[in-house]
Amino acid sequence: MIFPVQTEVKAILRDVKEETHLTKWFRFELQDDSFHFLPGQWLDLRPDDSFPWGGYSMMSSPSELPYLELGLRKGKSHPTTGWLFEEAKKGDSVMIHGPGGRTVYDPSLHQESVLVMGGIGVTPLLSMARTLHENKELKNNKIAIFNSVKSEEEWSFKNLFCKLDEDERIVVKTIFSHNEGHLTWNSIHVPFKDPHYFLCGPPSMIEEISQGLLKGKAVPRDHVHFEKWW
Ligand SMILES: Cc1cc2nc3c(=O)[nH]c(=O)nc-3n(C[C@H](O)[C@H](O)[C@H](O)COP(=O)(O)OP(=O)(O)OC[C@H]3O[C@@H](n4cnc5c(N)ncnc54)[C@H](O)[C@@H]3O)c2cc1C
Repeated sequence: MIFPVQTEVKAILRDVKEETHLTKWFRFELQDDSFHFLPGQWLDLRPDDSFPWGGYSMMSSPSELPYLELGLRKGKSHPTTGWLFEEAKKGDSVMIHGPGGRTVYDPSLHQESVLVMGGIGVTPLLSMARTLHENKELKNNKIAIFNSVKSEEEWSFKNLFCKLDEDERIVVKTIFSHNEGHLTWNSIHVPFKDPHYFLCGPPSMIEEISQGLLKGKAVPRDHVHFEKWW
């Protein structure tokens, strides 16, 4: 796999929307064409050099460039997350550096994939699912999504998940943990032969599900992919 070289570019915030009381959606337009990424990667962003870089995963597919989308959860103390959440408005410019991360979806290597996500960990995995959704010629690829959300009110990007579920190559299962309890590895059943698993969510979720897949289901180590960003 060839990873894109890192670069620093200016971007303009073109749209911002509240998703739930805890999450927001952002759409940026990059101001030059030197930035590329693979589905699953992240970038560093700051409004200017008085702010620390904040790391955020792309939730759009690379084919949308020069536009890219981010999904953010309201933070506790990071100044850049705070700025994005409380102050950023259409027309504001930011600096973007990246991309970073080696947990990426390659449709030619990962024909059958299971995406297991929780909380704001949906973002990099949404980029993967949208990459398949937008490439209609990938007829033999399949994705099963297991999305753990606390409750209906905290379900971010619901419309996007509904759109993905309409794609006959993609199946979406939503687990409402307040009612159903945590998603566990032994409730992940898929009609796939030898799938790749991509995990992103709270550390305890990644730990429990990855261990369960490796030990309980005997999934080969090189078929379980995750990056810990909490
Ligand atoms: C690879 C990666 C991808 C990510 N993708 C996403 C995403 O798609 N969406 C999303 O919402 N979040 C994402 N995050 C998390 C995000 O980068 C921030 O960590 C999070 O928004 C901060 O939350 P918080 O304000 O609660 O910070 P805290 O949990 O309080 O702190 C988080 C980090 O910020 C540092 N920090 C806190 N205050 C300051 C300060 N004053 N100056 C400098 N550093 C400070 C802390 O030392 C700590 O390392 C990602 C993180 C990584 C590493």
